[in-house]
Amino acid sequence: MKFLSLLPCSFLFVLLLILLSGPAAAGAPRLVRVGAFSLYPAIFQDTDGKIKGFYVDMLAEISAKENLRIEYVYGSWKEGLERIKSREVDLLTSVAYSEECARDMDYGKIPLLTVWAELYVKKDSDLNSLMAVEGKKIAVMKGDHNARYFMKLVEKFGFHCEYLEEADFDAVFQSVRQGRADAGVANVIFGSAKRQEYDLTSSEVMFNPFDIYFAVGKGQNAELLATLDHYLGLWRGDENSIYHQARHKWGGGQGLPIEVIPIWVYQVAGGVVLLIVAGGIFILLLRRQVRIKTAEIEAREAVLRENHLAYLSLLATTHDGFWLTDTQGRLLEVNDAYVTRSGYSREELLAMQICDLEALMNREEVAARIQNVMTIGSKVFESGHQRKDGSAWPVEISCSYSASQGGRLYIFIRDITDRNKAKEALQQKNAEMERFVYTVSHDLRSPLVTVKSFLGLLQQDIAAEDQPQIEKDLGYIKAATNKMETMLNELLQLSRAGRVPSHPVEINLRSLVDEALATVAGRLVGKGIQVNVSTPQFILYGEEARLMQIWQNLIENSIKYMGEQPEAKIEIGMEKKKGAPVFFVCDNGIGIDPGDTEKIFDLFTQINGQSEGSGLGLALVKRIVELYSGRIWVESAGIGKGSCFKFTLPEATDNPGKRKNDNEG
Ligand code: ADP
Repeated sequence: MKFLSLLPCSFLFVLLLILLSGPAAAGAPRLVRVGAFSLYPAIFQDTDGKIKGFYVDMLAEISAKENLRIEYVYGSWKEGLERIKSREVDLLTSVAYSEECARDMDYGKIPLLTVWAELYVKKDSDLNSLMAVEGKKIAVMKGDHNARYFMKLVEKFGFHCEYLEEADFDAVFQSVRQGRADAGVANVIFGSAKRQEYDLTSSEVMFNPFDIYFAVGKGQNAELLATLDHYLGLWRGDENSIYHQARHKWGGGQGLPIEVIPIWVYQVAGGVVLLIVAGGIFILLLRRQVRIKTAEIEAREAVLRENHLAYLSLLATTHDGFWLTDTQGRLLEVNDAYVTRSGYSREELLAMQICDLEALMNREEVAARIQNVMTIGSKVFESGHQRKDGSAWPVEISCSYSASQGGRLYIFIRDITDRNKAKEALQQKNAEMERFVYTVSHDLRSPLVTVKSFLGLLQQDIAAEDQPQIEKDLGYIKAATNKMETMLNELLQLSRAGRVPSHPVEINLRSLVDEALATVAGRLVGKGIQVNVSTPQFILYGEEARLMQIWQNLIENSIKYMGEQPEAKIEIGMEKKKGAPVFFVCDNGIGIDPGDTEKIFDLFTQINGQSEGSGLGLALVKRIVELYSGRIWVESAGIGKGSCFKFTLPEATDNPGKRKNDNEG
């Protein structure tokens, strides 16, 4: 059997029906010539040459009711088309609507059938989706528009198939059954009726649905078309009608799987509607999300802008230097503080690398340090930087790494020159304090030992009632306790000397010296010492009592260490060295060995063992001088050649600026 392709306006049969003249109910039946075209099992020519099928049964029923005589003119679809145009036939069945066909034909209003194509496979095949056709061999009927539709579909999805062309649908099914093809394309009318016979099944891959109608020549047989529509309208809704019975009979007991619109079309349409609704909701939600996210991004950007401004002002105002560098150590940004400190211009710095400015590390060490910071995230360490003039300055580097923009290092550079100086001074003070504690505990023990020993002797002498010895013992004990008292008093003064002077006032140097001399006037006269004061009119600024201790101690020492000098003399005055005042107290006393000129300023240091002092006087003087940022030293040509103590007091002489002018005047 023999089946032609379903062309856009295909027809399957030519039903030749010659309308009989006169009304249907009376007289000879009206002849209707039907162009018949093979579409098994709807209409086909059987082996006995007769035209049979579902349409034939249905038309027979109509002709009986309407007194028609049906005459089939069997041929190809193309022949049928020619015949309807030339009015050789009155009616065509199975005509799909197309604009081209509609120029030559009028269509019925109610579709005869809705048909589509399916891909048929062997029952054990796993080909059950369009995707599974990739690389498969597909049997198609030559010229079948369903086949063309399928090929386009496959191409559109980018799959590749091999096609085996056969003469008709039977040959297509035969190829699939015999394994020459993996699947075959056939319309659903044929497929439903014949798949059992060929032991095939539908792959559920369906495509190309369309309606087919009865059609008559343009402007012809309108009455016949209306009659057919009338019966189709009646029967399609009635399960027991000839329409359904005939379909069942010719559909291999399964009925032709034909609905005006198949369920899957509803399902697909429903799915599409659902998709559109869901898509619409999705788009609305998306828009809302976009609005929310946009607002969030704008807010974040505003914060970022603010942060950036804060960052810029921080960099502009901080005393610390700042660099932004890449991971190669190239400077990308530098702040004003660093420009000022380094002596380089901003442009010069932005053309430099870390290692160009680093004074303590070479290129490799800098690279290793960068790697280290990149690994651990941040680091604080001390180093040294080089200024443009070649001088170095100590720095503390606080460096942190960010992976953004390909890796960035944020580096703060703090000048620690002052901190290092303070640290050094503190270390000196600590060392001095250690020496002080050691010396105090050691030297205070000496009078204690004296007291202890003489208490023992006193006990014995009291027992022996040796009055002169008792007096002697008591004398030693008294001297020792006096010494301790002196030492403790001076220690107290020394500790006070370290404190920052309170309420600095203007002091006339000459008056200060005169007052100091007045406190020792008795001893000066007693020893016949001549004092020469050459101090000019000069204003000091500081704490009077403390400054007085300097001159008083030095004058007392000159008296103490005058020795047996027949023309004892003390010179007190001030000279200017490089514009800065240097004060002096000189005598022509016993002098000092050049090897002792440093240590006499230490605590409890006494060169002359018989000294009546405690060895704290010069330590106290030195401390007060240092309090005013000054320096004290002694000049002596040697033993017996006299001593000259000299000192500066910058804090008391330079500040404030106004007074400096006064002094020069
Ligand atoms: P002291 O209480 O012993 O005087 P000082 O600290 O005042 O302690 O002096 C330390 C030492 O420096 C003295 O013991 C003395 O040996 C020496 N000295 C101080 N002033 C003079 C001076 N004008 N001439 C010679 N030696 C001096």
